[in-house]
Amino acid sequence: MKKLISVVVPAYNEEAVLWEFYSRLNLVFQSLTEFRCEVIFVNDGSTDATQKIIEDIAAQCGYVTSIDLSRNFGKEIAMTAGLDHASGDAVVVIDADLQDPPELIHEFVKEWAGGYDVVYAKRTHRDGETWLKKATASGFYRLMAKLSKVQIPQDTGDYRLMSRRAVDALSQLREHHRFMKGLFAWIGYPSKAVEYRRDPRAAGTGKFNYWKLWNFALEGITSFTTAPLKLATYLGTAIALLSFVFGSWIVFRTLWWGEAVRGYPTLMVTILFLGGVQLFCIGVLGEYLGRIFGETKARPLYLVKQYSRARIVSDAE
Ligand code: UDP
Ligand code: MG
Repeated sequence: MKKLISVVVPAYNEEAVLWEFYSRLNLVFQSLTEFRCEVIFVNDGSTDATQKIIEDIAAQCGYVTSIDLSRNFGKEIAMTAGLDHASGDAVVVIDADLQDPPELIHEFVKEWAGGYDVVYAKRTHRDGETWLKKATASGFYRLMAKLSKVQIPQDTGDYRLMSRRAVDALSQLREHHRFMKGLFAWIGYPSKAVEYRRDPRAAGTGKFNYWKLWNFALEGITSFTTAPLKLATYLGTAIALLSFVFGSWIVFRTLWWGEAVRGYPTLMVTILFLGGVQLFCIGVLGEYLGRIFGETKARPLYLVKQYSRARIVSDAE
């Protein structure tokens, strides 16, 4: 029996690229002759014709599974839904917009055969992305590397191949606040990078604006490190020490030169500064508390509106 490769594709409003994506993936499948292949499209609550197109593709091609989520849950959860339904010996996660070239799957499979559990794509170029996005991304990875024990590879998206045991490990992590890059890194196992050139989107528009990216960074930091919680301790200690020095100086000055009724500016500065620091630290606590709240509700990660399994999971057509 040939080994099965599952390809998971989260799609949110991707009507413009799906057919082109499918035809390129199909070519890759045809050349993977020593494997069986299947593709799992997860429609993440699209408001355009994405689901219709997925069904059209499935009607024409037997190895397509379609999962239609009940609403938009976000890429991380859409991906998880796909992974849950993938039965392959290896599972590939790929974007629908052709920014991740499907042809790279050949190299993934080669490394997987060489014994690696996780083979991820590492970008050498980021065409079609602004310098601001590149700069903030690189700053974020450097910060994460300093703060967290889990080493998250830089310039790496979700595009990767995972062995069965890696997928099984990943699907045990059911947290709601899913920082996938961190979860991928958390499971460990031998991994290998394959370098590639990230193309601009084939069509349609990107769904990640800066506000979303900021929240994404917050998710990453609060999911994988408690360093910000310790910040309050150090800030507090530093301020207490400085205040002590300052206080001593005031006592000394008063004894030496005497003191008229002044001190309004120092008072204001102290009150405002301490107030600011306290609010900041409460905010940090709030970020963690909110996440604990989210997890304690223990809701299912996603709901499926419609599921249709691939008719044949056999040799690529
Ligand atoms: N996506 C999704 N749900 C969302 C947002 C995005 O499933 O809420 C999918 C999208 O269809 C695409 C992939 O995630 O296949 C990456 O999205 P996008 O290209 O917008 O992100 P970027 O390339 O900017 O990281
Ligand atoms: Mg994209």
